[in-house]
Amino acid sequence: MKKGIFDTHAHYNDKKFEGEGEKLISFVHENGVDYICNVGANIKESMESIELAKKFDYVFCSVGIHPFYASELEENWEEKFLSLLKNDKVVAIGEAGLDYSQEDFSKKDQFNLFEKQLDIAKTLDIPFIVHSRDAQDDTLAIIKNFPEVKGVIHCFSGDDKLAEKYAQMGWYIGFTGVVTFKNAKKTVRAALAIDEDKMVVETDCPYMAPEPLRGSVCNSSMIPHIIQKIADIKNISYEEVLEKTRNNAFSLYKIKSKEV
Ligand SMILES: [Zn+2]
Repeated sequence: MKKGIFDTHAHYNDKKFEGEGEKLISFVHENGVDYICNVGANIKESMESIELAKKFDYVFCSVGIHPFYASELEENWEEKFLSLLKNDKVVAIGEAGLDYSQEDFSKKDQFNLFEKQLDIAKTLDIPFIVHSRDAQDDTLAIIKNFPEVKGVIHCFSGDDKLAEKYAQMGWYIGFTGVVTFKNAKKTVRAALAIDEDKMVVETDCPYMAPEPLRGSVCNSSMIPHIIQKIADIKNISYEEVLEKTRNNAFSLYKIKSKEV
């Protein structure tokens, strides 16, 4: 097992990378990023994500449907979804959850899709990547109905109390570049509240570039800014955060070190 960074959430097949995702993966791997989980947000992206992961030993992937696609599901989506999950590079279901940031999406469709994916995760005993935006209470209420399912609350945007609650329930909390933003007091308090054993780091690239690179197209080589910020918040060393978040990512995605 290598000793560098594990970026637990990236989208290297995003169109913002203009087809340069593979080159960038090689670049960041040469620059301290040992492992990446490339995340799917619909069936097509999940398929692309698997293809991408197959090309690199150190890239894993997830299969999931983001809440914004909840009202436009293909009739046989579930069949495809289940067959994609059989690929051995797949380490999680997600990103899936609830997103109320745009009003024109049906909440009922979002609930149904979220519950369906949690149910599949429960049956297959596979980790889950939660996307929750402007929907903290409903997200928690649904997750509580699936106590067997564990995973990560990606790009955590709740307060310290909610972070503690998820940590107690056995979930990991994912920190992106948001924790470095000047107005991110709530996220800083959340990072302070929970134990390092429950933290993972992620870019969500191409989005969420950390300070001082905020606004640029993000990639995994920017993660040291996130790790350093967490080290400052927790008053521990950069190396300690690096090691803990990497080990946490391995247990989050149930990857055995001898496999990589
Ligand atoms: Zn994402």
